[in-house]
Amino acid sequence: MTKKKTAIVTGSTSGIGLAIAQTLAESGCNILLNGFGEKSEIEAIAECIRSDFGVDVLYSNADMSNPDEILTMVQECSTHFSTVDILVNNAGIQHTDSIEDFPKERWDQIIAINLSSNFHTIQAALPIMRAQNSGRIVNISSVHGQVASINKAAYVAAKHGVLGLTKVVALETAGTPITCNAICPGWVRTPLAQKQIDALAKREDIPEAEAIKRLLGEKQPSETFITTKQIGQAVMYLCSDAASEIRGSTIDINGGWLAQ
Ligand code: NAD
Repeated sequence: MTKKKTAIVTGSTSGIGLAIAQTLAESGCNILLNGFGEKSEIEAIAECIRSDFGVDVLYSNADMSNPDEILTMVQECSTHFSTVDILVNNAGIQHTDSIEDFPKERWDQIIAINLSSNFHTIQAALPIMRAQNSGRIVNISSVHGQVASINKAAYVAAKHGVLGLTKVVALETAGTPITCNAICPGWVRTPLAQKQIDALAKREDIPEAEAIKRLLGEKQPSETFITTKQIGQAVMYLCSDAASEIRGSTIDINGGWLAQ
């Protein structure tokens, strides 16, 4: 019997992270689940992944804005599963406001969760990956890692930073079987996006369907949401043998956003 791989997926109690965890579990990976939410709901998610895919699931409530908790999470994973094969940095939050109105504490929080956490998880996981001479690191950036939109200063800065970090890690691991890449999604309908749909509907006093049409129409020529499953499958590809020489790259899944 071949040994099961182990994947840490940060922010995997919801949205894109949950789909990535499910897709990796479907391929036979044990999962370190992380993120916030109701205890009973998280237990149900973990149990579902165990029973659906026959893998082991460990949950960590580590706060991705806390470097000490991040280190503990990676150590717990390594102790429990004896390995960390895949690290997916996915946890992220959003806040929209003009520069003048942007609360300083929200800036700090977004930079910590959406950018600095990626550095801390990688710093903790890389020695383990080097020791086992294998590993895949996938950072979930965004189309906002490549271009900007108004009122998203912290998010855009953090996501651009993630792409810079991805390249440095790729270079520092280039002579090894360890790879580091990023995925840059456009709009995906998750709770993070739903908040922006709800805010637009409220602000403009329009129905939800009209808010969705405007939100997508403004940037995403396909006028279709990208699915969480599609992001999960892109992660799977970056973790496959076929992707062993993809290093410091991005996979863009944005419905044509950047083709304009
Ligand atoms: P989501 O709100 O559905 O999920 C976010 C996850 O992160 C949740 O599990 C949440 O509990 C967790 N989380 C939040 N703060 C945390 C913290 N401090 N510590 C640990 N976990 C924390 O959002 P999503 O849309 O699935 O976003 C996932 C990633 O995808 C984010 O990095 C986001 O920037 C990126 N992304 C999303 C979209 C989109 O349109 N939804 C587009 C491009 C990129």
